[in-house]
Formats: sequence, structure tokens, C-alpha cells
Amino acid sequence: MTPRDTGSGHRRARTPDSPRPVTERLGLVLVAAVVATAMVAATVADGPAAPTDVETTRPVGAELAAAATASPRPTPTPPPRPVGDPASWVVAGPDGAALAATPGGPIDEVAAPGLTWPILEEVDGGYRVATHCARDGWVDADDVERPDVARGAGMAGAVIVVDAGHGGLDAGASGPAGVLESEVNLAVAVRLRDLLERANDIDDETGEVTPGDTVPPVAAVVMTRDPDDGKGGDQRTALTFRGRLATGAGADAFVSVHHNAGDTRTFDEPPTEVFYSVADEESGRLAGLVLEELRRSLAPLADQWRGTTLAGTIGREDPDGTDYYTVLEEARVPAVIAEAVYLSDPAAEELAATDEFQEIYAAALYRALVRFLATEATGSEVNEPIEFTPGGAEPYDYSSCSLAVPPEDGGEDGGEDDGAEDDGGE
Ligand SMILES: [Zn+2]
Repeated sequence: MTPRDTGSGHRRARTPDSPRPVTERLGLVLVAAVVATAMVAATVADGPAAPTDVETTRPVGAELAAAATASPRPTPTPPPRPVGDPASWVVAGPDGAALAATPGGPIDEVAAPGLTWPILEEVDGGYRVATHCARDGWVDADDVERPDVARGAGMAGAVIVVDAGHGGLDAGASGPAGVLESEVNLAVAVRLRDLLERANDIDDETGEVTPGDTVPPVAAVVMTRDPDDGKGGDQRTALTFRGRLATGAGADAFVSVHHNAGDTRTFDEPPTEVFYSVADEESGRLAGLVLEELRRSLAPLADQWRGTTLAGTIGREDPDGTDYYTVLEEARVPAVIAEAVYLSDPAAEELAATDEFQEIYAAALYRALVRFLATEATGSEVNEPIEFTPGGAEPYDYSSCSLAVPPEDGGEDGGEDDGAEDDGGE
């Protein structure tokens, strides 16, 4: 499900056909050269079971090889990792972080360890940050950790924000057997994080991603929800916060992991939908790559799927031309929402709960990010944005949202009682 809450602000209209800046293209070549090495051999074969309506441009390896050909570097060697700079986000320390409305003011609550927030301002020995509860707060610098991040071109210098959709009282979609979207989303997000944080090889034929040395780890992965934090990753997380974290982190890409539910009919192909930010064509390019990789990977898993005619890349905008979806509007970076399958379909629900599916989903997102960062590939067709005005959406209420560690005597999700179960966007 793709939730929406009220968002404001204005962004320029999407310009689908405008070329990307030359400087950006040049930055891609270094890593492409590295990535290409192990892929050139397997390059020319088409991936198996490509859906017939997918506009496949070239196999991954061919793209990477082509990019490498343009490289002035005769020998593919990993680019030097730049010296780290302080991140533009902070992480609540092991004892948690006391949040106050103003610098040195009364403590509102002690937030759980490991929660990550974008820095809005450095002030009075601490930071003003945006929090999961759609509020700003101030934390003492002693209460938080601010990692060093070695940013640069391509994969090795990239910061990726991985967003596990829903969380806390908001479970998102649920299947007939009770599989919760929020939990599957988180499991996939964690697998994607793990792939991004290590060096890998990619099997160009199967799409399998294994530990190796051709694709370097990224500079940093920032999670909107993280099972290793003091809330177990089950934090109620405002849509505005997710996008603001991507913007604040200066992410090279923002990927929001979801699964859908609804009235479906039978299709021969995976019903995958990928929503993109209408604010820039790079979001559309990322969506095309995510869709192509997900379809390619999911297709062999079943002969029939339940889905809707929405399947494909989707840009939805308000009448004023800004993004309809709050996370995409707030993320002023290349941003997509992936809805791999419909959990309302019993077969897809059973599949989505398996390790195999979750690994395949994560690997597909990973390959899309590698292609996005290291090549100029465009992937599947990017549909033009459409105005979307379903109406009736109630804004979420985060007034009782809490960041504190829940009490141990069974009061999980303690003070959270916002009752915002409705989904504004579907
Ligand atoms: Zn969802």
C-alpha cells in the first residue's frame, strides 16, 4: 500500500526528456569500469523469462561494458575512497537521546537508541533534527553519534536511504493468512541494506548477487526503520520524516519498499508497480530500472499473478503538478516506491513470507541501484505522470507518536494511539 498524508510545498514540474548533466554522467564512469569487469563475459545473453511487454534496452553487463569502454582508465581498479566527512544525520547513542523542543529546554522524551534523524541545524552544542513523529526536536551532541561518510562518485561514494514502508501501529496491507506488509517490507529492506554494505558479484544471467569484489559497498546506507534500533524497527514513522531523511542525508537514491493489496485479477506477469517522484527525470529512470529488475526476477516464481492494470511505472501528481505521495514529495532526491506483489493474493502472500522471495526482491532493488549509479541505463518504459485526485484522504495524526523504548511489561507501542489505520493513497 502506498500511504499518503498531507504534504505541502511546491516543486518544479517533471521534464522527462531533458538530458542529465554532463558532470553527472562523467562521475559514473569510474565505478562502471570496475563493475563491468566480471560482467563482460556474461554480457550478451539476455536474461531469462523477460516479460514480453518490458522494454528491455540492453542486458546489465552490456550497459556496464559500454560505460567501461568510454572510460579513460585502462585498468579497472576501485576508485579511491575519499576521506570521510561528518554525515548530515545523527544516530541516537547507546543510552538513547533526550529530545527537547528547544536547545537545553525541558526533555520531551528519551528516544530509543539507534534511531536516525537528519540534521536540520547545528545549534548550541547539539542538533535540531527531524524525527519519526513528524516533529522537530533538539538533541545534545553528546547523546548522538554522527558517523563519517566517505562520499564520492558511483557506488563507492553513494548514500542510499532504504525505507521499509509502514511500521508501529500502521501495519500497511495484510494478507488473508495474516502476513503483515510492515514486517515483510522491513525484512526486504534489511536484506537490501546488507547487500549495499558489502562488496558483491552479480550473475548477469540469473541476477543472483553474491559476495565478491566487482561492485564496491556504498558509502552509507540509512534506514528509516532498523530492526537493530531500540524500537526493533517497529517505529511509527511519518511519511514526511521518511522523505526528509532522504533529503537531509543528501541521498543518491531513496527506495521505499512496499507490497500492495486490493481488488485484483489474474495476469501472466508480475503485477509490480513502481511509483516515482514527478519532480525529476532521474526518479523516473530509477523507477524504470527497479521495475525491469523486479519483473525479471519475479517472473520465474509463478505462472500466474494477481494484480491490477496499474502494473508498471507510475507518476502521480496533484493538480498543481507536485508529487501526490508525501514521501516522494519530501524526498528531494531520486525517489521511488516499489510495490512488488499483492499480499491480498493468497499465493503471493505465501511467497512474500519466504526467504527466497525476500532475497530476490532485495537483489532486484540492489541491481537496479547499481545500474542507476554506475550506468545511464533507462530500464522499463517510464509512463508520463498523471493527475491523481481520489479525495477523501485523512491526514495521519502523529500527536501521540512516541520515540521512547516501550515499557517491558507488555505495553508495546505504549503511547501511540493515533488510530491512523486508513490508507490515504490507495
Ligand atoms: Zn505499503
